[in-house]
Amino acid sequence: MSSSISRLQAITAASNFKPSAAPVTFRETFATELYGSNVFSPTVMKDRLPKSIYKSVMQTIESGAKLDATVADVVASAMKDWAIEKGATHYSHVFYPLTGISAEKHDSFLSPDGLGSAITEFSGKTLIQGEPDASSFPSGGLRSTFEARGYTAWDVTSPAYILENPNGTTLCIPTAFVSWTGDVLDSKTPLLRAMQVLDQQVRRVLKLFGHEKIAHISSTGGPEQEYFLIDRNFFYARPDLLNAGRTLFGAKPPKGQEFEDHYFGAIPERVLAFMLDVERELFKLGIPIKTRHNEVAPGQFEVAPVYESSNLAADHQQLVMTFLRSVAEKYGLACLLAEKPFAGVNGSGKHLNFSLGNATQGNLLDPGDTPHANAQFLVLCGAVIRAVSLHAKLLRAVVAGAGNDHRLGANEAPPAIISIFLGDQLTDVFEQIKAGGAKSSKAKSSLNVGVDVLPTLPKDAGDRNRTSPFAFTGNRFEFRAVGSSQSIGASILTLNVIIAESVDFLATELEKAGPDKLNETIQQLLKDIIDEHGSVIFNGNGYCAEWHEEAEKRGLPNLKTTIEALPAYTSPSTIAAFEKYGILTARELESRREIAYEHYVKSVNVEANTIIEMAKTIIYPAAMRYQSELADTAAKLKAAGLQPDTTVLEQVTSMAKDLLAGVSKVESALNHGENGSVERHARHFKEAVLPAMQEVRTAADALEGMVADDLWPLPTYQEMLFIR
Ligand code: ADP
Ligand code: MG
Repeated sequence: MSSSISRLQAITAASNFKPSAAPVTFRETFATELYGSNVFSPTVMKDRLPKSIYKSVMQTIESGAKLDATVADVVASAMKDWAIEKGATHYSHVFYPLTGISAEKHDSFLSPDGLGSAITEFSGKTLIQGEPDASSFPSGGLRSTFEARGYTAWDVTSPAYILENPNGTTLCIPTAFVSWTGDVLDSKTPLLRAMQVLDQQVRRVLKLFGHEKIAHISSTGGPEQEYFLIDRNFFYARPDLLNAGRTLFGAKPPKGQEFEDHYFGAIPERVLAFMLDVERELFKLGIPIKTRHNEVAPGQFEVAPVYESSNLAADHQQLVMTFLRSVAEKYGLACLLAEKPFAGVNGSGKHLNFSLGNATQGNLLDPGDTPHANAQFLVLCGAVIRAVSLHAKLLRAVVAGAGNDHRLGANEAPPAIISIFLGDQLTDVFEQIKAGGAKSSKAKSSLNVGVDVLPTLPKDAGDRNRTSPFAFTGNRFEFRAVGSSQSIGASILTLNVIIAESVDFLATELEKAGPDKLNETIQQLLKDIIDEHGSVIFNGNGYCAEWHEEAEKRGLPNLKTTIEALPAYTSPSTIAAFEKYGILTARELESRREIAYEHYVKSVNVEANTIIEMAKTIIYPAAMRYQSELADTAAKLKAAGLQPDTTVLEQVTSMAKDLLAGVSKVESALNHGENGSVERHARHFKEAVLPAMQEVRTAADALEGMVADDLWPLPTYQEMLFIR
């Protein structure tokens, strides 16, 4: 019998897939009716809360006003009634620990009344504060496990929602997560702080430009999520996908993405049914899913919402990932969020679109069409350029991770060099500013103009550039280096902090100069920014080798892997920015760096152990079976008096030997003594374990190209990517 039974069963099951549920149609319940139906939204609150309480809560949500704790009891009671009407039996404080995934602990609404019955209870106190055991969440040395106490605190700005599950319905309350000692343990707390600081700083600039009515300013995020779908049967037949979320073996298929026939192509039926279902679930939670399409690689897709305020965008992004994974199961699919699930095939990213704006002045990174607005835009745009240049290493650090290391710089994702694409027209504007300052005679007039002579900026200030990690796309910047499996929390937090810092710098200079010298000073400051930080601007092809050389000449950092990138978490410039605005302390930043190293070590460790197991128990036996078949044949030929050709037999034998040699290397690399610091430990994984893993893979992939197909035990790339 062939050893490839699980592979063959998977293929059969995948080709015979029949949907078990009726397809989602929006005919019975139209999307507008569904939208937000499971959200304790302002509309619901308006209906259910006394007017004064509603107003007070909305003040906090819309203007960032301090939460009046006395409203909590009333809100809690209304929230409980609403949730119970929706079928909820439990409530949960949802929080965002530094594992990158969301955590929940469910509590029942029921409390025994002492007389043998129970009443439902949900007080303001339980709404505002929870106390999950924090000991199992990573703290990066911030506290020992015996100091388990952690607190969750209600985030009013991210609405509570109902999570429906076939086995129970839960009221979910987004919360911030801190330790008993007050140390920040999550991604939400610093983000909320940073958004507040950004509002304060940008407000100063708007005031300088004469705005009097300025609504609360918020940064906005629109994350595009790329992912792969494969049939679930293949997923279960591959221990590497099951354990590591990516394939650790697999020869390249004869047909890949070279025809580009998948990109934006017709969406396969089963996939479309899946997408509709995901959209329906997300609509219920008020998550504004907007676009969906096929991506570059076969089996790769993308989903993107309409942008929202950063905090909300971050919470919603977590839910998007959750639903992509869980709904896939209903359709017999597995959703792969790993950055590089298939070697040699395009990887997945998460393009984080980012801007700032408010209700009175609109999108502040929109060039607008008046020179006056241009100047304001240019100041803010200058702040972004300065911020990205000053903190390029930090931006690289917050997207670092074992998975993203396989993607960044692999000629299909932006390189690890952080540069900004401005587009030709905007670059030209900054060139003019640079030159304008030098012309002394014309200076006076061109200062006004520095503002006035500038061309009216068109909305699309130039072409797109897919190869840039940080691209201006007409009215926002797109941070394209984020990994597909990562939470956007750290990236969006960092953008808020570093931009606030540069806006602060510019506002301080402009305030010092006073209104009479405003234009002149703008001109000078922008010129300084371009002189000092212009080297971060690069409009060319980020994928080509010349850029790597050019970037080195410019002195731009090229931190190729997680190991080189992570130290930026605690560089003096990072600590200065984060401490200045009370976002995170040096100690908290250090803990984040440690957690990232630990995560790297754990990820590679799991992969290494999976490689060993698969090589020994799945691939080597297949090679031996084929070897024995070939040897049998050779012996029979010889017995028949013929001279057998043993080339293939010899090759298979030698590859199998290489495979085992590689396995030994991985084993001894894993079997190392304590490496002291977690950083040194991580470095060992990168320098000793990963290369040994690659040796095993090379041998295994060569065997895949050699061993008889009916004996090959693992679903192949071809099968996983093309059978739908
Ligand atoms: P593309 O792939 O062409 O860049 P998509 O439509 O896939 O565009 O995604 C663009 C994303 O940018 C969407 O999520 C969109 O809501 C978001 N976006 C648009 N304007 C802003 C803004 N002002 N701030 C943040 N994100 C924005
Ligand atoms: Mg897109």
